Amino acid sequence: MCPVKLPEGGSDTLIGLDFQCACGRRHKVEVKHVSVGSGIIRNVPQVLRELGLTGRFALVYDKHIGPIAERMLFPVLDRPGIRYEHICYEKPDEVKASVESSDEMRSMLPKDLDFLMVMGSGTMNDLTKWAATVLGIPYVVVATAPSMNGYTSSISALSHGGFKTTQDITPAAAVVADVDILKEAPLDMIRAGMGDLLSKNVCNADWRLSHHLKNTYFCEVPSQMTRRQETYYLAHAAELGARDAEAVRQLTEAVMNSGFSMAIVGESSPSSGSEHLISHYWEMQCEMSGRPINLHGAQVGVGTLIAAEIYERARRMRPDDIDLDRARKNHKNADQLREIINQYYGEVAERTFEEMSRKAVSWPEKERELTTFKSNWEDIWRDLERFLRPRAELEQALAAACGPTRASEFGFSRQETADAIRFSRLMRNRYTILDLTDEVGWLDTWADDIAEEFAG
Ligand SMILES: [Zn+2]
Ligand SMILES: [Zn+2]
Repeated sequence: MCPVKLPEGGSDTLIGLDFQCACGRRHKVEVKHVSVGSGIIRNVPQVLRELGLTGRFALVYDKHIGPIAERMLFPVLDRPGIRYEHICYEKPDEVKASVESSDEMRSMLPKDLDFLMVMGSGTMNDLTKWAATVLGIPYVVVATAPSMNGYTSSISALSHGGFKTTQDITPAAAVVADVDILKEAPLDMIRAGMGDLLSKNVCNADWRLSHHLKNTYFCEVPSQMTRRQETYYLAHAAELGARDAEAVRQLTEAVMNSGFSMAIVGESSPSSGSEHLISHYWEMQCEMSGRPINLHGAQVGVGTLIAAEIYERARRMRPDDIDLDRARKNHKNADQLREIINQYYGEVAERTFEEMSRKAVSWPEKERELTTFKSNWEDIWRDLERFLRPRAELEQALAAACGPTRASEFGFSRQETADAIRFSRLMRNRYTILDLTDEVGWLDTWADDIAEEFAG
């Protein structure tokens, strides 16, 4: 099954990876340097020199990171030959992760910069990546929390006109992740990193499912990458919650690998499936109702448990439970889909419909897909099970790290949770277990039950 044997070890072993894969695509890691370890921030000047980044740059960070930057990074940078300007966000909580905010950042930057450097995670990273891409200059990332996989990825997740989108960006020239800094990140962010990584179990199954039913592109290499540290951090989840340096290091390596896993195939499928859709749906609800946005990875962790539950329920069904006659009656045409989307997606309904309708197919085509599933039931499930882990195991790990395991912990109601289960699949073109179980009429009957468990 394995088309290629990846080198053992950390994310740095993937630097320089470049090969033509059996999947038909060329896999290339474009990031030139990644390092994860204790005390390595002092190597930043050397990394810059090695990459030929000797000109003037702007260092982007926010006021939460300011004191850490002052203690750990400024002393390293303040030496002859290094020229940089500070761009410090004083009110980061008011900055949206949007293309508009990134454009604003760009307008604040001094002219004629040779590259950018960002010290931070999440929004600061996304804004900097996009700004550097638009300016056509390189950027370097000094990571501060293992909360997200965006450091090494080639996409940024910024909203545009209120609609959640992803943009293709130039990957970072270098990523430096000093574990001495990352292990001191807020515990919620460390737990969020694990929540986001747990999703790999579900999203690779979703990606594979789509391949089986819709004959879409799939490759095994990304999941090989993201699996390398999984056994360790699942077994050491409690240590993560206690800021153990080795556990944080392993998690950070996995975070870097996750970013690479998307970059090498040029799409986010290996690190984002049904669980991310559920999380994106909640996030959009928060945005529309003006509530604060929760940590992405923390929500994804709960989305993963819900998706794993749906997989397990589906696995307990039998091929005969797929009633094609019922599926035909349940099948929605474009007008019906538009009506549902209008109801749940407010002002972004039109763009949501445009995006989602690309995976909508006519009934004869859908009948072919469902028949494929019905007649190859056992083979397909056995294949999907290579990627899935039991929900109980994932939940145990999240609980051991004291991360959220229920939607109610974010303040989502039972109704909002049931809506996310039923309607988040309408957000994207991506085909997942949410689509399949909806098409055969199971999801609707399970949604309230599952919502009761997760937000009762
Ligand atoms: Zn491949
Ligand atoms: Zn994610």
